[in-house]
Amino acid sequence: PIGISGIEKRFGGVSVLRDLSLDVAAGEFLTLLGPSGSGKTTLLMILAGFVRANFGSIKVGGEEIITTPPHRRNIGMVFQNYALFPHMNVFHNIAFPLKQRRVSAADTAERVEKALDLVQLKGLGERRVDQLSGGQRQRVALARAIVFEPRIVLMDEPLSALDKGLREHMQIELRNLHRRLGMTTVYVTHDQREAITMSDRIAVMNAGRIEQIDRPEVLYARPQTRFVAGFIGDSS
Ligand code: ATP
Repeated sequence: PIGISGIEKRFGGVSVLRDLSLDVAAGEFLTLLGPSGSGKTTLLMILAGFVRANFGSIKVGGEEIITTPPHRRNIGMVFQNYALFPHMNVFHNIAFPLKQRRVSAADTAERVEKALDLVQLKGLGERRVDQLSGGQRQRVALARAIVFEPRIVLMDEPLSALDKGLREHMQIELRNLHRRLGMTTVYVTHDQREAITMSDRIAVMNAGRIEQIDRPEVLYARPQTRFVAGFIGDSS
């Protein structure tokens, strides 16, 4: 239910996003794929409300949100470095967005338990985050993003800090979780293989624009530009 249209973003005099438009369907898993500097993170930050666009509109379910502050957007976010509070325990990290939303203590306890269960961290609520493995931290970040049952989840390279085996395992888990919960997901990666395995559709970004947006097999079989052909072709 996301309608992005005519987004422009400049840092100093430099255009980072250029007249970018994109629709994401309800429940879709859409990946922004592109090389470093193509504007993926900037677009995600604009969607989350942490960065303000110079022009353009973002509608969620038909409602304009471009000036809505981040905590009122009902959007969950998983950052590349997880952005957890290391000195706090798992429970309090996951409960943080509920506290911001003034959810009662009893309701919070119940929702955090459910989230812990979904990411397979049951029983680890009391553990300090700095005593967890990378994969466990990643799950805490994921639980924190879904605990308030957002309609939309944004993920910026959430698996890039994990080793290959765990990354592949988490790709499957993320996909399964998405199937179960059905939240609209915008996922950022520069890893072609990861994008192809996980996505309903992929938007290939280059220099602040979307070069092509299609299902993975279509991008693979019928790339519309030399850039897309080269970039997608790199994965084999
Ligand atoms: P990566 O895969 O390396 O994270 P990306 O596709 O996510 O890259 P962005 O992080 O969106 O790209 O950056 C796009 C461009 O905008 C880059 O040239 C970057 O240097 C520039 N940029 C991003 N944030 C800022 C900022 N706060 N101030 C100035 N320039 C910025």
